[in-house]
Amino acid sequence: MSIRSINPATGETLRSYEAHTEAQIDAALTAAETAARDWRRRPIEARAAMINRVGEVLRERRDECARVITAEMGKLFAEAQAEVEKCAWACEYYAEHGPKFLADEIIETDAGRSLVACQPLGTVLAVMPWNFPFWQVIRFAAPALLAGNTAVLKHASNVPGCALKIEQILRDSGLPENVFQSLLVGSDVVQSLIDDPRIHAVTLTGSDKAGRSVGGQAGGNLKKTVLELGGSDPFVVLEDADIQAAATTGVKARFQNAGQSCIAAKRFILVDSIADEFLQQFRAAVEKLVPGDPMQPETRLAPMARGNLRDELHEQVQDALDKGAEAVLGCRFASGGALDRGYFYEASILANVDESMRAWQEELFGPVAIVIRVRDEEEALQVANATPFGLGGAVWTRDLERGERFARELECGAAFVNGMVKSDPRLPFGGIKASGYGRELSWHGIREFVNQKTVWIG
Ligand code: NAP
Repeated sequence: MSIRSINPATGETLRSYEAHTEAQIDAALTAAETAARDWRRRPIEARAAMINRVGEVLRERRDECARVITAEMGKLFAEAQAEVEKCAWACEYYAEHGPKFLADEIIETDAGRSLVACQPLGTVLAVMPWNFPFWQVIRFAAPALLAGNTAVLKHASNVPGCALKIEQILRDSGLPENVFQSLLVGSDVVQSLIDDPRIHAVTLTGSDKAGRSVGGQAGGNLKKTVLELGGSDPFVVLEDADIQAAATTGVKARFQNAGQSCIAAKRFILVDSIADEFLQQFRAAVEKLVPGDPMQPETRLAPMARGNLRDELHEQVQDALDKGAEAVLGCRFASGGALDRGYFYEASILANVDESMRAWQEELFGPVAIVIRVRDEEEALQVANATPFGLGGAVWTRDLERGERFARELECGAAFVNGMVKSDPRLPFGGIKASGYGRELSWHGIREFVNQKTVWIG
């Protein structure tokens, strides 16, 4: 079997890789297990220094990494550069704070001395998506490796070059051999990896479909999992919001990364009294998102990452249109000239969306904003929570107490008032409901793949 890199802006095959064989996979798992014995015994400060070095190398080689990202999954080059810098930040953050996050916690009991010690679990299997192909991997790997685990990455099949580049960056930063390895394999191999006793825990970032499958398999093996899955985040604009700020931020929140972000604002829920004003400003800004070559600095909208993802998005849009939704803007493939070769979709706005439509029930993973009008705050909250997902959510109001109240009522893992949902190494990140469970980033994230061991000394 071969794994291919295809440039989504041109449809051209960049490179084909032979998938790893059973024998290569077996050797990699043994190597990970062997490497873990030495790695876990090193002082945490030594591991932290290496993770810090990974951050430095990522900064030094930012553009080289960003070029691989843009070539393989199509995002704007400036967004790819920003992604690599954010990875460096996460490395530096964990290098600085990880050792204290994992320090022994002394607890007064009837013992002479009792404490909680954080110890690594062993080798963690990471199944990762293509949409932030560096960030998803680093945000898991920096804390997991710092904690003394080793890692085996099964990256999405359309970003093999990113998988190998990350492995190379970590090796070039001085990490010992086999502490981090990329396996070039399809998703059909994941079950056997999870079953393997040399794998001790599993983290998956991806769709809820993949999450159900991987979560079930890991559960059957009694292996710890973190599942970071899809979302259909509400972006609620109340009648007392700063409409201009909400509209400007809303465009970024929906359309960055060509709309292919788990925490993108996917449902714009607008209180009737300001809906027209918001839509007018929002639409004017969305119209400026002209698609083109993602390497060119003037391009505002990147292609989607794969042809089948664009087809799926269009089917969801078509279903809504068939059931009475209104195409305010776009809602079709972007075409003409060089665009015809790539997987471009127009920046789109779909209004009059209701519960009968796939666009309401499912995640729209591309550049399509859906608009739902509501009477008031109460209905806005009810609609915001009427989704199977629970990743992020945003609310806009000038009344900060009202905003905080609303944020606390949102059923999600991260609620933002007057801002777009974003990840930050200092804040925990993750979802509830069909968006998964467990947390990444911050103190909370580094504690997911450790044995929090009670030690009682009489
Ligand atoms: P995906 O199709 O679920 O794939 C994600 C990863 O899982 C890939 O490595 C894929 O391998 C593998 N995979 C797919 N089906 C599998 C199965 N049945 N068993 C084992 N592994 C399986 O998702 P995607 O299209 O790459 O990414 C988009 C999705 O990820 C969206 O739903 C998005 O919201 C979500 N996401 C969530 C977060 C978060 O933090 N919550 C962040 C980013 C993205 P192959 O590529 O070989 O199929």
